[in-house]
Parts: sequence; structure tokens; C-alpha cells
Amino acid sequence: MTVDEKEKVNANGVPLFKHTVTKLDADMDKEVIYEFGGPVGVCAMMLGFPCLMYYFWICLEYHQGKLITPQSYSIQGLQSFVYNGLIHKVITGAFPHWQAVKIYMGFVLYSAICAYSLPGPIVEGLGLPSLKGKKLKYCCNGLPFWYLTLALSAILHYTGVFRLTQIADNIGSIMSVAIIWGFTMTTLVYVIASVMGKRHRMSGNFFYDFFMGAVLNPRVGPVDLKMWAETRVPWPILFFISVSCALKQYETKGYISAPAAFMVLAHFLYVNSMQKAEECIITSWDIFYEKDGFMLIFWNMAGVPFTYCLSSIYILKYEQATGLTISHSLPYTIFLYTLLLVGYYIFDTGNAQKNRFRMEQNGSFMTRLAFPQLPWGHLKNPTFIRTEHGNLLLTSGWWGIARKPHYTADLMMSISWGLITGFGSFLPYFYFCFFVCVLTHRVSRDMERCAKKYGKDWDRYCERVPYIFIPYVF
Ligand code: NDP
Repeated sequence: MTVDEKEKVNANGVPLFKHTVTKLDADMDKEVIYEFGGPVGVCAMMLGFPCLMYYFWICLEYHQGKLITPQSYSIQGLQSFVYNGLIHKVITGAFPHWQAVKIYMGFVLYSAICAYSLPGPIVEGLGLPSLKGKKLKYCCNGLPFWYLTLALSAILHYTGVFRLTQIADNIGSIMSVAIIWGFTMTTLVYVIASVMGKRHRMSGNFFYDFFMGAVLNPRVGPVDLKMWAETRVPWPILFFISVSCALKQYETKGYISAPAAFMVLAHFLYVNSMQKAEECIITSWDIFYEKDGFMLIFWNMAGVPFTYCLSSIYILKYEQATGLTISHSLPYTIFLYTLLLVGYYIFDTGNAQKNRFRMEQNGSFMTRLAFPQLPWGHLKNPTFIRTEHGNLLLTSGWWGIARKPHYTADLMMSISWGLITGFGSFLPYFYFCFFVCVLTHRVSRDMERCAKKYGKDWDRYCERVPYIFIPYVF
């Protein structure tokens, strides 16, 4: 960086630095490293994820969330258990019928049309090493999409044109459509990218490349498919599954219990935060570096909405099977609502502090009319470490306390999603357990990458902020 550039500081004391692609960035972008256990590991995941999703669905639909084994059916032999206990139930109870296709694919199509047509600010991404530093433009119309979707869904429900309770009524079949669509879309994106010669960072092993993806930035007109799939499909569907379960309870019992309302609030906060901070997602690792393969596509199209919703489904199915509503003492309920809201506050402001700081540095900072704007989301006169690379590493706000404060906050929220259901089933805790694995893997991947990228400056940063998740603990 030149002396002149160092002197350009904005009104908040943040030096401006236009992100440029260094040779190291370009080398790191091309490097192929086998992750997730290589070809064998990813094949196991591609087969295992859908099976696991069906297994969870059977446990919830027919067994009040209990984890079933061959003994649960008094069935002798694994083959018989798999056929009579599992496959038969999937075919009869989760068949992807036309109604389910209309609900799921209708929403997918609707959200794609919104992404294509609604207005929103145009924001530039980071310079891409594979495009010689070129920056792609993203139309951030997530907020109008979200508000429009909330209004339309309320109208459709109250006029009876589409009762939202139909989602809970057809959950197994809708999940089957999502699984089929996850595989179909992965195949389409892979084949089209290959035919168009847009393959990037390929390992040469078909299964591994199918899992990680072939193309980095698939686009249909102005719509970035990766960004659309990450923000516009999974989280709104997750929210509507919880709303549907709560409305179903209201229809049968005449009230919405505190745990059911909790899940609606939890999922509302998550999806709302994603839409209101959409412009910050553009510079995230998923959009900047990950390719668009099975891992991102399947997980967004099917995995996130139909495994992160297990708490909401459990609350409903338990009640339907036993006639009993899950409820807790007032202090326990207040404790969990507090845990959720405190977790959300740290999550929202932690992500905002870093992303806004980075946007200030890039000169792309903007204020948006979005609810809620929480105090301490934008740091005044932040402190930072200047790296030789040029990027600044934030060391104030939550980022002076820990290196991944937003992960800790996310985990606080995810454990609260399980605790609100009580201790009757493991399934509502699946998300938390899975998420611990995801974030642990992400942390080690990210730390390795940053250590390589920033060298001794990263060591200085780690000395300044020694704890990763919780100060004085870890
Ligand atoms: P992070 O927000 O952790 O971003 C990591 C990058 O941020 C680093 O590679 C580095 O990039 C930059 N960075 C790290 N430390 C600093 C610092 N002190 N100052 C400035 N920049 C820094 O990425 P994620 O995408 O993993 O997480 C974003 C959010 O998404 C989190 O809240 C996470 O919990 C959530 N999430 C949720 C998931 C879910 O399924 N619910 C799944 C995954 C994530 P650079 O190279 O630019 O320096």
C-alpha cells in the first residue's frame, strides 16, 4: 500500500483500502485441497444426508421423536427393518405428490422471479482472482422480497387461497420434492457449467467435484444463483414451516403455546437478519470462494429448511400424538427467551460490526431502512491491526473480546431451539450438534486460511485477541 492510500481515512477513522487481488490470493483460490474426507467422505454425505432426513421424518411422524431401531418394530433383520420400517413409510407417507410439488416449486419459482425483478441497491462484490480481479455486481433486493412475502402469505392464508397449515400437513412430501430438486439443481448447474466451460478449481475426481461444484459464480441474467439459493429459499421456508406448525396448533387447540411461539420468533429473527444484512453476505466466504455444488445447493434447497425445523415439527407432532402440549415453568421459559434474544443481539451486532467495518474500508458502506437496527452494530472509531496485505483486522467491539463472537452467539441461539422443547427427544438438539461440527470445521479452515494469507500479522492479531469463542475459556 502506498503512503497516500494510508492517509485516506473516512470520518469514522477507518482507512480506505480498495481490495485488490494479490498473487497469494490467486494461488490460494486455485489450490485444490481434499476436505470432508475426500471422494469417499463426500459420497457418504451425498447418500447419507437424504437418508438421515427421511429417518428423522419417520421418527417424528410416527414415533413422537423417538430414535427408532429394528427393535422398535419387533422386526428381525436389518433388510426387513429398512424395507418395512423405513422405505415403506417413505413411499406411503412422503410421496412427492402434485400438491407438494406446487407448494415447494411454487415458492422456489416465486422467489426467483422476485430476485430477478424487485428493486434494490446494487452492491459490488470482492475482486475475484479467477476473473483477474473483476468485481461482480449484486442486486440486494432481499428486503422488499421478504416484506412482500410476509404480506402475501398473510393474505393467502386469511383469504383461504392457500392455508399455511398445508405446509405442516404435507411436510414429508414437500421434503421429498426439496430433496429431488436439490439433486436436480446440482446436476443442472454442474452440467451447464461444464458445457459452457466455466469450471474452476477442479480436482479431477467426479464425485468430489460434483459435491464441491464446478462453477464459482453461476448467474441467470442479473441473478446470482448462489446468493439466491443461500438467502431466498432455505430461511424463508424454515420460517414458514414454524409458522405452519404454530397455526396448526392454533387450529386444533385454540392457542399458540410458548414453545411454538418461541420457534416462530427464533426463525423470524434469523431470516429477517439475513435479508436486512444481505449486502454483507456478498463478501462472505460462501459467495467469494465456495463453488456452487451439492454442498451448497442441496444443503440450501433441502438440508437447512428440513433439518433446522425439527424443533417446530417435534412440538406439533408430540402434541398430535399424545394430546399434550409441551410447556415449561415460567422461569425456564423466561430464561430461554432471554438466551435467544441475547444470542441474537450478539449475532446481529457481531456480524454487523465486522461487515460494516469492512464495507467502510472498501468505501461501500451504506445505511438501510431495515428493522431492527440494534445499538453497537456500527463501531465508532474502531481499533484494528493493519496487515501487510492491506486488509484491516478489527480489534474492537465484540471482535476485541473473541475471534468468532458471532459463532458463539449462533450456538447460543441453536441450543435454545432444542431446550425449548424439553428433553423428550434428541431430534430438536440435532441442529445444535450438527452446527457445533459445522462451525468447528469452519473455524479450523478459516484460521488456516487467514494464517496463510496474513502471515505474521495474523499472529499479532491472535496475540491481541487470544480467545476464539469465549474469553478466558476457549
Ligand atoms: P466469518 O464472518 O467468520 O468470516 C470469516 C472471514 O472474516 C475471515 O476469513 C476474514 O476474511 C474475515 N475476518 C476474520 N476476522 C476478522 C476481523 N477481526 N476483522 C476483519 N475481518 C475479519 O464467516 P462465516 O461466513 O463463517 O460466518 C458468518 C455468519 O454466518 C456467522 O454468524 C455464522 O454463525 C453464520 N453461519 C450460519 C450457518 C448456518 O447454517 N446457520 C452456517 C455458516 C455460517 P478476509 O479474508 O476478508 O480477511
